[in-house]
Amino acid sequence: MRLKIVQAGDPVLRQEARPLGADEIVLPETQQLIEWMRDTMRDAPGVGLAAPQVGLPIQLAVIEDRTEYQRGVSPDRERQPAPFQVLINPRIVARSDEQVEFFEGCLSLAGFSALVKRSHSVTVEYLDEQGVTRSIQGQGWYARILQHEIDHLRGKLYVDRMETRSFTNIENLTRHWKDLSIPDLRRALRLES
Ligand code: ZN
Repeated sequence: MRLKIVQAGDPVLRQEARPLGADEIVLPETQQLIEWMRDTMRDAPGVGLAAPQVGLPIQLAVIEDRTEYQRGVSPDRERQPAPFQVLINPRIVARSDEQVEFFEGCLSLAGFSALVKRSHSVTVEYLDEQGVTRSIQGQGWYARILQHEIDHLRGKLYVDRMETRSFTNIENLTRHWKDLSIPDLRRALRLES
């Protein structure tokens, strides 16, 4: 089933999501929701989807960066396929000092994009779909996805972190900005370097 993805302005996107109990994770309803969120993310298509985006203020997100999404992506993004993954009650326990800046989008701000600085790498502790505690270290684009989805569970959107002057619709991103290097972009947007 495909769930409805709520758009910016819906109060649920600004709520602090509630952690899930181990007993709730194994419920058939939760397992069904995970499947529907996976289908909804793939259909969108997107590389991550957090429960608040389908109207539910709970700490659950799904991530998947498929091989077919990698075409034409420039190597500086350090983007690689990431298998389907469920994150429950995730928290960032460590992050690199190094930050990287790229255009980022969100299924709840459909049609728009902006430059967002994110930590180059993060360590995340979370529960998987069976309620087992896990830890992952992600870097590059995968680290960006992790930070973006965990932000959703804290009621944050990328617009809270974006370089505001870079905000653009997708059509203009493709037409004017997509192929510029970050230094050239910053110059063209008259941003301090
Ligand atoms: Zn998002």
